Amino acid sequence: MEQTRRQEIRALLCERYWTLDELATRYLLPRRVIVNDLEHIARSVAPRQRLTILAPVCGACGFRFKDRTRFSDPSRCPRCKNEHLGPQRLRIR
Ligand SMILES: [Zn+2]
Repeated sequence: MEQTRRQEIRALLCERYWTLDELATRYLLPRRVIVNDLEHIARSVAPRQRLTILAPVCGACGFRFKDRTRFSDPSRCPRCKNEHLGPQRLRIR
């Protein structure tokens, strides 16, 4: 029930911020499946709304990702190579 799941995720994202891991855990699905859902959802809410990505700040050097468009979490800081970044958070606004 792909369509039902996407509608549900879309409703969840209108309520609060979610991380990719939280959604993958909730649906017991691989993260790549959820990323695919998010890409579909992002297209279906536009142009009235936007699936926004609140990117993490690197705890080691303070680097901020700007204008992030990928729904998978960044694996490491492009500036200092720190691999312990917090997850990005997603929400429909
Ligand atoms: Zn860094």
